[in-house]
Amino acid sequence: MAIIGAGIAGLSLAHSLSSQNCARTYLNARRESDDNNNDGKSELEIVTKVFDSRPPTTDILKAGAGIQLTGGMSVLRRIDPILQRAVADASLPLRFVRSRSKPWSFSNSTTTAASSYSTLLELDLEKVIRDTGGDTLRELIVPREEEDGMTGDEEVMAYSIMRGALQEVLLENLPPSADITFGKTLTNIQSSPDNQEDDNNGNDEGIFCAFSDGSIEGPFDLVVGCDGIRSVVKDFVENGKVSSLETTAKGEKNMGKVEDSALYSGIRIQYAIMDGEINDDEKFGDNDDDNETGRATGGAELRQYFGDGAYALAGTYGAGVGRPPSRGAFLVYRDEGYIGPFRKGADGGVSLSSSSSSSSSVEGVIPDENTDWRQETPSMGGSVGMRRKIAECSVPDIEIGPIVDAADRFFELGVYFHNPLGGGFFPSGWSSEVPGTGGRRCVLSGDAAHAMPPFLGQGANQAIQDSYCLATKIFQHNTNCLVRVESGLVVEEGDIDTKGNVENDNRGDAEVDITTDAKEKKKSLKKLLKEYEDVRWKPTASITAKSAFLGYLETGGVGLPSQFRDVFFRIAGLLGIAKKVFLGAATPKL
Ligand SMILES: Cc1cc2nc3c(=O)[nH]c(=O)nc-3n(C[C@H](O)[C@H](O)[C@H](O)COP(=O)(O)OP(=O)(O)OC[C@H]3O[C@@H](n4cnc5c(N)ncnc54)[C@H](O)[C@@H]3O)c2cc1C
Repeated sequence: MAIIGAGIAGLSLAHSLSSQNCARTYLNARRESDDNNNDGKSELEIVTKVFDSRPPTTDILKAGAGIQLTGGMSVLRRIDPILQRAVADASLPLRFVRSRSKPWSFSNSTTTAASSYSTLLELDLEKVIRDTGGDTLRELIVPREEEDGMTGDEEVMAYSIMRGALQEVLLENLPPSADITFGKTLTNIQSSPDNQEDDNNGNDEGIFCAFSDGSIEGPFDLVVGCDGIRSVVKDFVENGKVSSLETTAKGEKNMGKVEDSALYSGIRIQYAIMDGEINDDEKFGDNDDDNETGRATGGAELRQYFGDGAYALAGTYGAGVGRPPSRGAFLVYRDEGYIGPFRKGADGGVSLSSSSSSSSSVEGVIPDENTDWRQETPSMGGSVGMRRKIAECSVPDIEIGPIVDAADRFFELGVYFHNPLGGGFFPSGWSSEVPGTGGRRCVLSGDAAHAMPPFLGQGANQAIQDSYCLATKIFQHNTNCLVRVESGLVVEEGDIDTKGNVENDNRGDAEVDITTDAKEKKKSLKKLLKEYEDVRWKPTASITAKSAFLGYLETGGVGLPSQFRDVFFRIAGLLGIAKKVFLGAATPKL
């Protein structure tokens, strides 16, 4: 099979497909089969090729910012405890999430003293997980496992890590047999290996993937789109073809369908990343009892500071084993040209925006740059520009300011997401058949299936859960095929010699009908991929909706709406709503 995209979803799928844990049912069936056939085979037998568009020379450590790992970490442990340990070692344990606000009784000027914020909410993660109990406790506090066995301690599945460091660990820990090629941008999905336009008549060999360098790879039985928010595979699943292959009236590539699938939220993020240095602990007072740096001794905190119609987040993130942690400061604010996802028109009207039609009203930002997590375009103004914006939004800068001043990289991006209900009347779902390939299919995972706003910090966590869930379904499909072979309902391909005679006939008296078998296989795969979607759609749609709501609430208008937000957060904290929302999203749903 082909995995398109080696981001968090693609890499964790590659791990899941080489995981004995994910393949348990299949391996048991295989072992029984081996006992019968006595041929000693027990390998997983899924040949996977991974393709990613980024050049092999990309410095992944410098791409992206910090992410929090909760449910995703718990699921990594199911995939492979050794891999989870490696990710944990590259991360920082996340201890607290705190929300603070500018004190409204003060003037609107930027505050600098420690006393100049008021605390709205504090989540001591271990405590709230223990208090919640049930699945949350079972999934998020687990016995600690080292390479030489259990240590007797418990581990809280809440970590902070730089996205690049996570990707590095996932890449470095792939089995040596992993086949991964960079510099391959998928341009088409087709039923024939020819470079000519595909007529989808196919020859039942399998699915072929065409890449921008002119190469064609295949045949594959399944193509998994892990190609992120602007997914080409999603375009194929939704439209039955890759629309970017078409040209517009002006003779340009028609990227419309790919871009239209993501909605612009009208919320923007500027962020500053500071690579860690050995003496940061001293410089930022990390070891002080009452430090203001987001890094308590031995762990990390995420601290949110609300201002007027905006907020900032400061955090410390693991940057890999042996490297000092990095720091990130994020400023989240509304695009002035938008009311929610609706673009303000010159005539005072509003219209819904997808990426192809959106542009930022932020001064100096070129429309359609930074439209997703692409990192090429540094935001305008560096530390001075970001400081100015922080001051404009009256965000307490006690902690954010020093990170911005010392930052190595600055970025700005618009927040995009997929409408979980799809664009049309009938949602097209996450999987579709590729015509002319004998029922073989494409399926989506991670951001390609459900890009969500980042305000609950769940994008990467959900991608890992997708991968685990999808891999178990793929193994289930293989188990079904194996059981059919064993029960004599079908002949294995390898058992038919060149003259069409059946060797190793283990069918007993059962009738063999290869057409029926092909139909059964097709049905089995379709059903299992639908099961995967059914399991994963609801939690991801719910997180998308809550995350969007949170984003709009947190960046609500200047003055009264922001005061309302602070009251809301205080009450949500007191009533336990905040902890419920956070832990609801963090608890894996498989
Ligand atoms: C550069 C970058 C930085 C990010 N930073 C953050 C962050 O700081 N915080 C956060 O919460 N989330 C961040 N995200 C999003 C977050 O990582 C995702 O929600 C999560 O990782 C989901 O992962 P994914 O694998 O589905 O998608 P992605 O991480 O977007 O990965 C998609 C992969 O597919 C590849 N690809 C895309 N199109 C094609 C194509 N046509 N052919 C072949 N390959 C293709 C891309 O090169 C990429 O490696 C970032 C994403 C990216 C790409």
